[in-house]
Amino acid sequence: MKNELRLDPLTGRWVVVAYERSARPSAFLARDTDVQKESLKICPFCPGHEEDTPPALETYSEQGHWLLRVVPNKYPAFAGDEPMVAITKGPIFTTAPASGIHEVIVLSPDHALGWSDLSHDQVKLIMKGIRDRIEAHSDSSVIRYSQAIVNSGREAGASLEHPHGQLLATSFVPREITDELAGFSRFLGGCVLCSTLEGELGIADRIILEDSQTATISPFWASQPYEMLIVPKMHNEHLHKASATELDSIAVSIKLAIGSLKSHLGDIAYNLVFHSSPYREQGRFHWHVHIMPKLTTRAGFELGTGVMINVVPPEKAASDLRPYLIRP
Ligand SMILES: [Zn+2]
Ligand SMILES: [Zn+2]
Ligand SMILES: [Zn+2]
Repeated sequence: MKNELRLDPLTGRWVVVAYERSARPSAFLARDTDVQKESLKICPFCPGHEEDTPPALETYSEQGHWLLRVVPNKYPAFAGDEPMVAITKGPIFTTAPASGIHEVIVLSPDHALGWSDLSHDQVKLIMKGIRDRIEAHSDSSVIRYSQAIVNSGREAGASLEHPHGQLLATSFVPREITDELAGFSRFLGGCVLCSTLEGELGIADRIILEDSQTATISPFWASQPYEMLIVPKMHNEHLHKASATELDSIAVSIKLAIGSLKSHLGDIAYNLVFHSSPYREQGRFHWHVHIMPKLTTRAGFELGTGVMINVVPPEKAASDLRPYLIRP
């Protein structure tokens, strides 16, 4: 059965009904070392197991060894290039093809090293890989938007332990992005994120880290504990049009930010979300990265109302994390 989009008429959000993804493997290592050794043998993302994934779309290598691989997702949520045409079956049931792209980016050959443990060169290569794929997706006539994510840890939704990210490209602009676009449109004083940086850098209470290219902040409106927003200082709508220097700075800022979270809170699960403008959108977006530590669960009130209760004020989050980031 092909996956399909179904429209929720109550919220206006598209839902993907996926027929095969529930069959995908879950290979989180148990803490038992024998089981760990067994799991390492079957990890499809470890070197030596390249044939367990579909052929790579992109490989970045050095001296005959790969450093970063992008492969098609074996269980894609989005696939194919049928145009986005909504089909209504009566007044309520609206479907559309779940067209698009779903890829996996293996962040390093090392099974045990996540973004914060990797070298500066390796995290810069990851950002380059993400940029290259987002640019490649823009060639497709049906793709409107590409989303890069990293889920780290079982609680954050990762199904395999080997550090990896995903790139999903869709034939429609997802609701979270149309909501953010509406935020950019509502704000009358220029760009809402340029203004945010200007305001935050003036106060410094919620700045976690800053260099010449990038600021990492605990946003004034953070909806969950230790949530972070990483914003390039240069106004640019599209991640794939950012300069190599900016991408390098973002890569290292993510590494340091996650490192500070882990130093303060231990080995927590987190989601990394890269927000770039939809491809054909002009003039109202500023690309950025969200870091969402998985410390709390959205319970009944949050699910029922969409109103989040953040138990760690962002000013405290920033002052908790900043001491781990003082660099010589
Ligand atoms: Zn592995
Ligand atoms: Zn801006
Ligand atoms: Zn965003």
